Amino acid sequence: MISVKEAKSIIRRKIFSLDAETVQLNNAIDRILLEDIVANFPSPRFNNSAMDGFAVRSSDTIGASKNNIITLKNIGISSAGSPSQLKLNQGECIQCMTGAKIPAGSDAVVMVEHTSGFSDNSNVEIMNETQPDMHIRKKGEEIQKGDILISKGTRITPSEIGICATFGYGQLEVSKKPKIAIFGTGNELVDPGKDIKEGEIYNSNLYVLSDLVAKAGGSVVMKDVLKDNKEHLNLFLSEAMRSCDLVISSGGVSMGRFDYVRDVFLDLGVEEHFWKVAQKPGRPLFFGTGDKTLIFGLPGNPVSSYIGFMVWVWPVLNEMMGSIRIKSFKAELTEPFPSEKIKYRYLFGKAWVEDGKVLCKPSKKIGSHMLTSSLNVNCVLGAEPSDRQLNPGDSIDVNLLPWETMK
Ligand code: AMP
Ligand code: MG
Repeated sequence: MISVKEAKSIIRRKIFSLDAETVQLNNAIDRILLEDIVANFPSPRFNNSAMDGFAVRSSDTIGASKNNIITLKNIGISSAGSPSQLKLNQGECIQCMTGAKIPAGSDAVVMVEHTSGFSDNSNVEIMNETQPDMHIRKKGEEIQKGDILISKGTRITPSEIGICATFGYGQLEVSKKPKIAIFGTGNELVDPGKDIKEGEIYNSNLYVLSDLVAKAGGSVVMKDVLKDNKEHLNLFLSEAMRSCDLVISSGGVSMGRFDYVRDVFLDLGVEEHFWKVAQKPGRPLFFGTGDKTLIFGLPGNPVSSYIGFMVWVWPVLNEMMGSIRIKSFKAELTEPFPSEKIKYRYLFGKAWVEDGKVLCKPSKKIGSHMLTSSLNVNCVLGAEPSDRQLNPGDSIDVNLLPWETMK
């Protein structure tokens, strides 16, 4: 049995990066960006109007009000997409719509509401004094040419899609999605929706693992529930090792008489790097490598399998895709936490901010078979081995579930 720290450093040495691929912007959501997105032009690109109104020389409007109307000569129109090429001289104005280029010679916009309105009349009445730059969106006021907008390693959300579109990127360099095989083992497993007999249980792990893989940005290309039978395992695994970047099993990797998963991994030539880790839940954790595949054997208990994925597999998927790392942080316990003498202890929990402090508490249910402990939580709490249980006020590591927030 090795420590969590040792196990992590062994895995770190075996991780490989996935290649990049180019995707169209509308297929890029949730992918990991493998290039910096740089502004190839300033934003706004040119001085433009923030209002529908009249581009004027502000000095021509001094003293203008409802009681002191100033009349300017209307010489044309500048609209979004059709900039006016005219230059404004003293006493002139140009009808200027929202987003339209500010004509040369003009330094302010008067809202149409403060004028006699749009028309083909050559005279326009101005009823409001304006100041230089009023209602003008200035070139480069948001972003300068050459600014880095989004850094390599960012997961693409609708915000990033919007920025890439704004700056004209029609396609992006992203990491390929890791191809993943997941399988569960156990003669007792029945799929939800089917009838269940004495001694059987419903398979929940593959449902959880499939969703976790999708959330992490991977693609499940093989998935099955297998009987505790070496031939079935052999067939599935040999294909998985040929076609996948990562193989994740749940169950059948412990000391039971019918736990064949490790034997089959070894029969197929998988190099074993470790099999047992000083952690609870999930001591029988297998990690090995094939020619071009990382292999994780997670224990079958639903909480061990779920927490095992979050602690061991999720960071590996992130790193393979070049994603910016999510760090754990410390929080203060408000309830006791049952740490272990020689094992790292993980439990689902809840973390929140109160009076400027980050607080947390573990779920009430602590058995590794109790999947309801994953309801109404937002993190996995982790405590180093210790001779004493942790008490309220003690500090503990919080790994926020990446799709959760601290409410
Ligand atoms: P094992 O690691 O195969 O010894 O399984 C440990 C426990 O987890 C047993 O109680 C299994 O019935 C249960 N288990 C194994 N696989 C699954 C699964 N896919 N869904 C839910 N429970 C499972
Ligand atoms: Mg089993």
